[in-house]
Amino acid sequence: MNKIIEIYKNSTRPTFSFEFFPPKTQEGEIKLKATVLELQKLNPAFVSVTYGAGGSTKDKTIELCETIQIDFHITTMCHYTCVGVGKEEIKNTLSVIQSKGIQNLIALRGDPPKGSGKFVPHPNGFKNATELIQFIKAKQFPFCLAGGCYPEKHPDSPTLNDDIQNLKKKVDAGAEFLITQLFFSNKKFYDFLEQTTKVGISVPIIPGIMPITSFSQIEKFKGLANCEIPNQFLQDLETLKYNVEEFLKKSLEFTILQCQDLLANGIKGIHFYTLNQSNATIEVMKHLI
Ligand SMILES: Cc1cc2nc3c(=O)[nH]c(=O)nc-3n(C[C@H](O)[C@H](O)[C@H](O)COP(=O)(O)OP(=O)(O)OC[C@H]3O[C@@H](n4cnc5c(N)ncnc54)[C@H](O)[C@@H]3O)c2cc1C
Repeated sequence: MNKIIEIYKNSTRPTFSFEFFPPKTQEGEIKLKATVLELQKLNPAFVSVTYGAGGSTKDKTIELCETIQIDFHITTMCHYTCVGVGKEEIKNTLSVIQSKGIQNLIALRGDPPKGSGKFVPHPNGFKNATELIQFIKAKQFPFCLAGGCYPEKHPDSPTLNDDIQNLKKKVDAGAEFLITQLFFSNKKFYDFLEQTTKVGISVPIIPGIMPITSFSQIEKFKGLANCEIPNQFLQDLETLKYNVEEFLKKSLEFTILQCQDLLANGIKGIHFYTLNQSNATIEVMKHLI
């Protein structure tokens, strides 16, 4: 299996990658395997598997990465967060991930459990992803490392500029490429790229895109302070929220245009937040390749 940074370096065309989460039920697992089978046909550069809040899916995340590599021959990237864990446990888990032949890791701080407010580091752990990456490097784990980034700033940062200064530290520590939080405003993304270039960040920054399939997802994003949804798009979806077919058509139209614009502006790849569904991503991809 490949190191993802080599894929970005060697690819002459933009790459596509897909994100999944570990299902909670057996039915969900069967459905996910069908989704991976469908999306495999699109020849993804890699797929990634999220790490449940507070490490709640640790074993499943690792197992799923391993299964996808063995059964589907797709390079995987394992998500990993250091919330609530100390150095010893982190080292043990990373050793397990390495032993499964997983070469790519997105190293994240993670969020505190829902409703518990501010992030509090484990007494023997790390305050942010940069410290986690420094640890991974110091312990000589050979992973290709990615980091998260936030075109509309991370909620804990007072300003976007502060956040970008911290992002530079994360890249200097060893993050070889970055994947963004989902966003709907390409303008914000391009402004972000400009600012990251100004501070000397030169690693690939891959937009994370989510095709919206239901109005409840929109309700969720509306609640997020750091995710602007263009007014017209929001109004269109609101009008169509009870018409499943038209809603999906309008929503995917937006995502297709958003991705076409990103590709026209020379990005190195798109990472799709699939929510374990294949149809919407396939529909969007039809218009991109
Ligand atoms: C692509 C992507 C995938 C994700 N996958 C998962 C997942 O699988 N599971 C999950 O639970 N969560 C996931 N998340 C969410 C993520 O865990 C949260 O957004 C979390 O709040 C921040 O993690 P981070 O690694 O991006 O943070 P960090 O890079 O650590 O940043 C967090 C905050 O600390 C600040 N900071 C960073 N470094 C420093 C420093 N040196 N000094 C001072 N301040 C600093 C930053 O500016 C920011 O405000 C993902 C996010 C992204 C973008």
